[in-house]
Amino acid sequence: MGTIKDNKKGRLIILSSPSGGGKSTICKHLKEKQPELGYSVSTTTRMPRNGEKDGKDYFFVNKKEFKKAVKEGLFAEWAKVHNHYYGTARKVIDDFIKKGKTCLLDIDIQGGLQLMRSYPDAVSIFILPPSFEELERRLRNRKTDSERTIRIRLRNAKKELEYQKFYDHTVVNSILDETINKIVEIINKK
Ligand code: 5GP
Repeated sequence: MGTIKDNKKGRLIILSSPSGGGKSTICKHLKEKQPELGYSVSTTTRMPRNGEKDGKDYFFVNKKEFKKAVKEGLFAEWAKVHNHYYGTARKVIDDFIKKGKTCLLDIDIQGGLQLMRSYPDAVSIFILPPSFEELERRLRNRKTDSERTIRIRLRNAKKELEYQKFYDHTVVNSILDETINKIVEIINKK
C-alpha cells in the first residue's frame, strides 16, 4: 500500500458518499495506516454509538449547544443529516492547515459542497458503493441502525448519488485495499 507523503502544505481532503458507501471503514483504515494524515473530528447532536468516545469519534453536544455554535459562526460547514446535526469546527481545520498537515474530512454531501465553496483548494472525493443492492446489504450488516433509520438512509442515498458530479474524483469502493490505494494516489498528486 502507498503512503501519504508529507508535503508540508495544509491540504483538505473531503470524503463523501451515500451512507453505506463504506466511507467510515475507509477513514478508519486511513487513520490507522497513514500517520501523516490528520482527521477532522466533527461535532454532532446524535447519541454516541457503542464504543464511540467523545472528542475522538465526535464531539457529542446537545441541540442547544450546537445551535449556539452555529450562531457564533464556529462551524466551517454544518448540516442536518438523518435527523441529527453535524458540523466541522473552523478551528479544527484551520489548525491542520496552519500545521501544514493533510486533513481528512468524513462529511456528508451538503457539508462537502459548503466546504468546496469556502476552501476551493480542497480535494473532493466521492465514494461510490459498487451497486445499490450492495449498499443496502452494507447498511443492514452494520446492525447499528433501526429499520426506520435504514429506510431513511436508503432514500437519502438514492438522492445523494446524483451529487457525484460536483466532486473532483469518484472512487468505486469494491475492494477496500484498492480503494485506499486510489485515495492515497489522489492525495499525493495534489
Ligand atoms: P454517522 O452518524 O454514521 O457517524 O454519520 C452520518 C453522516 O454524517 C455521514 O455521512 C458522515 O459523513 C456525516 N458527517 C459526519 N460528520 C459531519 C460533519 O461534520 N459535517 C457534515 N456535513 N456531515 C458529517
